[in-house]
Amino acid sequence: MSSLGFIGLGSMGGPMAQNLLAAGHDLTAFDLDEGSLEAAAEAGATVASSASEAAADAEVVFLSLPGPDNVTAVVDEIESDIESGSILVDLTTSTPGTTKAIADRLEPRDVDVLGAPVSGGHSGATEATLSIIVGGDEAVFEACRPLFEAIGSDVFHVGDGVGHGHAVKLLNNYLSNIALMATSEAVILGDQAGLDRQTLVDVFSVSSGRNSANQDKIPDHVLTGEYDMGFKLGLMEKDMRLLSEFAGDQQVPMLLGHVTRDIAGYAKTKKGFDSDMTRVYDFLEELMVE
Ligand code: NAD
Repeated sequence: MSSLGFIGLGSMGGPMAQNLLAAGHDLTAFDLDEGSLEAAAEAGATVASSASEAAADAEVVFLSLPGPDNVTAVVDEIESDIESGSILVDLTTSTPGTTKAIADRLEPRDVDVLGAPVSGGHSGATEATLSIIVGGDEAVFEACRPLFEAIGSDVFHVGDGVGHGHAVKLLNNYLSNIALMATSEAVILGDQAGLDRQTLVDVFSVSSGRNSANQDKIPDHVLTGEYDMGFKLGLMEKDMRLLSEFAGDQQVPMLLGHVTRDIAGYAKTKKGFDSDMTRVYDFLEELMVE
């Protein structure tokens, strides 16, 4: 049993914290949102009144925050209170550069950092079937492996650099998002040509056009009319903006990556930050269909 701190109890962090509690760990939780704190308390967490309090006595501190600016702000807050010899695990979809910067800042305090973004959505977080994509020192990763196995089913150590996990995650989300956009266009076009939308995804999902959009996002969250993937359109736009910045840092040009970022940006403007990511289908349909 470890004593854990968990900061950020949203769509992903809430169920991840609950799975760590279910695995028998002591967990002190903090979020700015009262409702999320109440749910964590009901699951057995000790509720902290600040991020610093959640981090103060923990052997391992998890962050699951919207993006890199929130991570930097929370590290500003906890830097002087986090226990010397502890480990900070950032589960946020952030940037490799941000993760490296916080590791450099915390090194003098003898705090190890792992960048460990996750994939699998709200359902994966709830069912503990996430992919966990970890960058950082291998011995630190191995020390945390049982914690990762409590929240995910596929745990990867992708490199010794603390930012390596975040690099892999941004590339993965690029593929997921471009697949959703391209599949939406294909289904909208097929629909306009008089084809049945469910039949289209049934064919694509077992043929050479298969991807996570036609296997899951469109049939389960668009065609049902529910739009309930549990991932905000604003976070999709954030991920694609971070991908573009990452490509810029590497001085590598991208064509489709920047187009994907811009479609996500226009969709966020039209549909709103908090809309479900699957609303990108409606955004494209409004552009394509009179
Ligand atoms: P969310 O917006 O539901 O949750 C973020 C939580 O952070 C909120 O509860 C918010 O109140 C809290 N927060 C923000 N600033 C804070 C602060 N200073 N102190 C304490 N709490 C603070 O987002 P989410 O969907 O849970 O995503 C979290 C991260 O995981 C994001 O980086 C996202 O890109 C990534 N992610 C999400 C999904 C998904 O399907 N939702 C999948 C994979 C990865």
